[in-house]
Amino acid sequence: MVSGATSCAGQKPESTDKYHRLVPYRAVFFDAGETLVYPHPSFPELLAQVLGEQGHRVDPADIREKVHVVSSIFTEAARRGELWSTSRQRSERFWATVYSTLLAELGLPFGNGLKRAVYETFTDLANYRLFPDVLSTLERLRGAGLTLGVVSNFEEWLERLLESLGVTPFFAVRVISGVEGIEKPDQRIFRLALERTGKRPEESVYVGDSPSFDVEPARAVGMFAVLLDRRGRHPDHAGARITSLGELPTTIGVAG
Ligand SMILES: [Mg+2]
Repeated sequence: MVSGATSCAGQKPESTDKYHRLVPYRAVFFDAGETLVYPHPSFPELLAQVLGEQGHRVDPADIREKVHVVSSIFTEAARRGELWSTSRQRSERFWATVYSTLLAELGLPFGNGLKRAVYETFTDLANYRLFPDVLSTLERLRGAGLTLGVVSNFEEWLERLLESLGVTPFFAVRVISGVEGIEKPDQRIFRLALERTGKRPEESVYVGDSPSFDVEPARAVGMFAVLLDRRGRHPDHAGARITSLGELPTTIGVAG
């Protein structure tokens, strides 16, 4: 029948697996970026495009190759307890650090004109899409009677983005750091989602693409955490791991 057990075959079952067998899940909460939505056609291509408009020719492949240099900026900010998505000002400042680091790696300056153009590009709703496996999965889970929600580190405009992508009606709650003033990995943002839906952690699932921002805190709260590893970055993840959202219903024991 179930599950996490299947997806972490050969690995030691984690403690949350016991709920998995005893408690039917009643709610599933989703991360947004890289879980439900992505910059279209891709982050490197969009960035190359905006750089091109500003007179810098860069190959998207070169950007893709350098993206790893910015990942430590996120973990370092979290370690210092520095919030980056809770206001537009913080967000602009944080992303300016991210882009200037990345552009320095590519040997490009990051002047004010470019800063504005990049920020506008990545806050433009038209530049985001749903992953192709999202709608069918949401429909399946909703059809099985589960309550669905979003818990995301995002600016308040995520609400408008979900609306423009037509998925707002699926989600009973959208808990967005830019609205709440709390960010993952702070456990309180997960608890807010539970409180607002009246669900207990052990009957709830959380799905996200980051082991440290999504899986660890959700598990610490007592939810069953599933890592969505779309790009195969964490093959050795100890716990439930899927590579497409379409695997989620089976992983959490939703039949059909
Ligand atoms: Mg994410």
